[in-house]
Amino acid sequence: MIELLTLEQFREYKAIGKGFVAITDKNLSKNCVHDTSCNFVKERYFSQKVIESGRKNGSYYQTDDYNEAFERFEKMQRCQFCLP
Ligand SMILES: [Zn+2]
Repeated sequence: MIELLTLEQFREYKAIGKGFVAITDKNLSKNCVHDTSCNFVKERYFSQKVIESGRKNGSYYQTDDYNEAFERFEKMQRCQFCLP
């Protein structure tokens, strides 16, 4: 599992279109793991959370195995839209 820290990293990973993205959020009751191609995995949201807010409310991680997201983070859930 690798944390996504820059727009370049995010774009590259999104362009490959494989694997999963775990998104954590301290202000929400749950964290969420998505298929990389999910519409909720958006550059604008990434930019807001990671670049503009400096990850103080949450972070983005790439992984080939979404079970890793459940092992690493509490309150993790699968996205209802891309991983029902
Ligand atoms: Zn999703």
